[in-house]
Amino acid sequence: MAKRDYYEILGVAKNASDEEIKKSYRKLAMKFHPDRNPEDKSAEEKFKEAKEAYEMLSDAQKRAAYDRFGHAGVDPNAGAGGGMGAGAGFNGGFAEAFGDIFGDIFGGAAAGGGARGGRSNAFRGADLRYNMELSLEQAANGFATDIRVPAWETCEVCSGTGAKPGTKPKTCATCSGSGAVRMAQGFFSIQQTCPTCHGNGRVIASPCQNCHGEGRTKHNKVLEVSIPAGIDEGQRIRLAGKGEPGVNGGPSGDLYVEIRITPHDVFQRDGDDLHCEVPISIATAVLGSEIEVATLKEKVSINIPEGTQSGKTFRLRGKGIKGVRSSYPGDLYCHVRVETPVRLTDKQKKLLREFDASVNEGGGKHSPQAKSFVDKMKGFFAAE
Ligand SMILES: [Zn+2]
Ligand SMILES: [Zn+2]
Repeated sequence: MAKRDYYEILGVAKNASDEEIKKSYRKLAMKFHPDRNPEDKSAEEKFKEAKEAYEMLSDAQKRAAYDRFGHAGVDPNAGAGGGMGAGAGFNGGFAEAFGDIFGDIFGGAAAGGGARGGRSNAFRGADLRYNMELSLEQAANGFATDIRVPAWETCEVCSGTGAKPGTKPKTCATCSGSGAVRMAQGFFSIQQTCPTCHGNGRVIASPCQNCHGEGRTKHNKVLEVSIPAGIDEGQRIRLAGKGEPGVNGGPSGDLYVEIRITPHDVFQRDGDDLHCEVPISIATAVLGSEIEVATLKEKVSINIPEGTQSGKTFRLRGKGIKGVRSSYPGDLYCHVRVETPVRLTDKQKKLLREFDASVNEGGGKHSPQAKSFVDKMKGFFAAE
């Protein structure tokens, strides 16, 4: 398969600025991120494609090579110790894939990405996700609730050092406490997290038995979450700093409450609009009548005019849902379905036959759709 042009993938001009490239990638990544499109292969492909294009074009050197030699200049699969990694998957999860570029949205450094900050031993705590299922009514009206989330607390036995009381963590001999080691590889010197202390800079000879050397223990904590009115399926509420606490003084991660909405018996939601099906009797459809329908908040009446056909839609302005960022509520669409009467008595059937005969006497006048259908069918056979 021929590779698409990186500029084309990102939808930017050849002379696009770094800012434009970043902006465009951000848009695509938000749209196609696998977390937002679970099990959608084509979205996943598009995400990978955009990610690769961005990684190439956001690096001045690679961009220059690509501009001169095209894909041959920057083949991300060429490997050869280059370790560009653009072709790599995003299995590192949400935070890793979003790294720098989403820092402003998702609150700073990625989860567990402490190594990026250089030699600091401070790690930002991991982001947490909490799935919450709401009814359509709860989502439309908003509400406050408590959730229980796992939380870490500083171990009270060792006061967070991770070492058995009376002992102390020792400075790591491998890295002299820096948490990182340098390795020569060809022309390059590569910095890696110290394998002995895993970046802590310290080793614990006799770990605290309460926290098993972690310096912290797990509890559940109760958080109050306020769900804004109008929230929709797949939206997230960010509780800044309510994720796991950082290590060695690093900042806490964030907690994301991700919303799922239980399917409703009556209404289907489409953005801010609602749809529902309204069964009416043949008599109501024929003669017209005022009928009552329920909205999410109240009962309202709609006027069914004489001669209403099945499938007709009535739109009730403003009776939908006011989305979190919307200025006005959406509409409620009532789709009318004429119900065929069932289990009729002999007497009712006889009346209906008499009625039908009387309707047929009017020719096609009373059933314009059926007449037009029959006429069209005649047309097919005449052509043979
Ligand atoms: Zn402890
Ligand atoms: Zn070390």
